[in-house]
Amino acid sequence: MSRFWLDRPVRADRHAFLGTSGFGPVDNISVLERYEHDAAEWTRAHGGSVVEVHCYALTSDATVPGMRSRVLDELHRVYPETTTAGIVDERHELRADCPLFPPGGFAARPTITTPEPGLVLAGDHVRVDLPVALMERAATSGMLAANRLLRLWGLRGHDVWSVPVAGRSPLLRLAARFA
Ligand SMILES: Cc1cc2nc3c(=O)[nH]c(=O)nc-3n(C[C@H](O)[C@H](O)[C@H](O)COP(=O)(O)OP(=O)(O)OC[C@H]3O[C@@H](n4cnc5c(N)ncnc54)[C@H](O)[C@@H]3O)c2cc1C
Repeated sequence: MSRFWLDRPVRADRHAFLGTSGFGPVDNISVLERYEHDAAEWTRAHGGSVVEVHCYALTSDATVPGMRSRVLDELHRVYPETTTAGIVDERHELRADCPLFPPGGFAARPTITTPEPGLVLAGDHVRVDLPVALMERAATSGMLAANRLLRLWGLRGHDVWSVPVAGRSPLLRLAARFA
């Protein structure tokens, strides 16, 4: 994660949060003064922008000095007006605390239920058969795990709403199996 305090603002129509794809290691860019109190105050006082760039899938040998220019290059590609902005301050955090799910690893993840009836698992690392990820998977698995325990204790849980996980037409579902 790299946060830059820039001496001039990004364009007014830039989104508070932008998920990216195809921009090297960059996964998203936030314009913090759009939604964070301290950043908004700083921007009010100094007239610039506070921009945060996240990269979630770096190689294990990545270093802050090694990544800094790549991150900045991609920021400039996404928001070209940042190319000419001066960097007033910057902070970088490089951690290995984001769960890694290799392609094909879904089936091997721990599930909410365990062989021990009173022991349930929840969190982003847990398999949930709904189209959720990250915080949403952590929260959804928490609800499902709590529901499981509540059912065990004869108590009513909370409904979890999601989109249908299968197509509505049985004929098309059948055709998809042979596609
Ligand atoms: C930089 C960054 C940006 C992110 N941005 C987004 C985003 O924009 N949107 C989104 O949906 N998700 C985002 N995520 C992912 C999101 O933070 C995680 O999916 C979510 O926090 C997972 O929740 P969790 O409860 O599974 O784990 P965590 O939130 O990691 O909670 C686990 C807790 O367990 C504690 N713990 C660990 N080991 C022990 C131990 N031995 N004993 C006691 N406690 C322990 C930890 O301190 C921690 O508090 C981001 C993650 C990172 C790192």
